[in-house]
Amino acid sequence: MADIFYLSHIRFGWGALAELGPALSGLGVVRPLVVTDAGIRAAGILDRVLGAGAAAAPVFDATPTNPTEAAVEAALALYRAEGCDGLVAVGGGSPVDLAKGVALLAAHPGQLAGYAAILGGVPRITASTAPVVAVPTTAGTGSEVGRAALITLEDGRKLGFISPHLIPKAAICDPELTLGLPPLLTAATGMDAVTHCVETYLSPRYNPPAEAIALDGLARAVAAIERAVADGRDRTARQEMLMAALQGGLTFQKGLGAVHALSHPLGGLKEPSLHHGTLNAVLLPAVLRYNEPAAAEKYGTLRRVLGLPGDASLPNHFQALSTRLGLPSGLRAMGVPEACLADIARQATLDHSAATNPRPASEAEFLALLREAMGT
Ligand SMILES: [Zn+2]
Repeated sequence: MADIFYLSHIRFGWGALAELGPALSGLGVVRPLVVTDAGIRAAGILDRVLGAGAAAAPVFDATPTNPTEAAVEAALALYRAEGCDGLVAVGGGSPVDLAKGVALLAAHPGQLAGYAAILGGVPRITASTAPVVAVPTTAGTGSEVGRAALITLEDGRKLGFISPHLIPKAAICDPELTLGLPPLLTAATGMDAVTHCVETYLSPRYNPPAEAIALDGLARAVAAIERAVADGRDRTARQEMLMAALQGGLTFQKGLGAVHALSHPLGGLKEPSLHHGTLNAVLLPAVLRYNEPAAAEKYGTLRRVLGLPGDASLPNHFQALSTRLGLPSGLRAMGVPEACLADIARQATLDHSAATNPRPASEAEFLALLREAMGT
């Protein structure tokens, strides 16, 4: 049976931020908690968002690079102390995922771990989850329309919390908010969007609408990413990247693959703290090399979408793209220590994204992928 699920209300376009107030009142949210990070505040984006319909709202701006259980608890305490009845998440994937964690615990008893997907938590997440309005400021995560939150627990595991009830009730996608994103973050978050489109397309689940969205998103992203990195004020490129990221998020329901099964535990490392999109860009070539025997026909479609000749190597194509974008050449260059690889490989086999990789991977195969992605 195919499980096809589209319910997001998305306001997309230049100036869409003005829709924040109406979106909140439409949801009956009177006192939202705004969840963001220090960088968004420093960039002046937080003030613009507050001015667009959340003027008196309390703000939690201590979202870490990778959201943690401790940060969810801290934001939840503020949510309760301020008598909030909903959330506005402003930023990249981390504030959005953190807001989802708060929305969950605001209406469900117990600790986060009880709701993790791999621990059987999916059916425990109910419609009582507090409403979230997501305002993305990067073009990559897709979390603004996704049903998952990735949060690192106190014990170090980075786990997925997955439910249709975690999908933000509204997404306000205004490309204006992405114009100031620096080149390297534009590249790294953009490669997250690219990876979402590639991995969900290759997922073996039957969901033709999601595949069509993934291929369209991929075409937009590869056409725009280098322009957005070279000139952040290129409005067409920014709009295309934000749409590609949104489309990547709309296809999550089809399931991701080995790139994300590996980047989730790597993103859970305390030291070094690793950027999700950068990890995906670095892991993608090795995973594409591994998956090719299991998805030859789909690789042909991907080549056509990318405008590549029939004998072109997809892994080499994406490797070259990453290099042109100025992203690191491998995990070693990102500071990943050799000593953690065996544990990351073990955790990857347990990650919810492993199940939808087109070619099943054992712990030893995940370890080989990590070794290949270490680079020189
Ligand atoms: Zn991702």
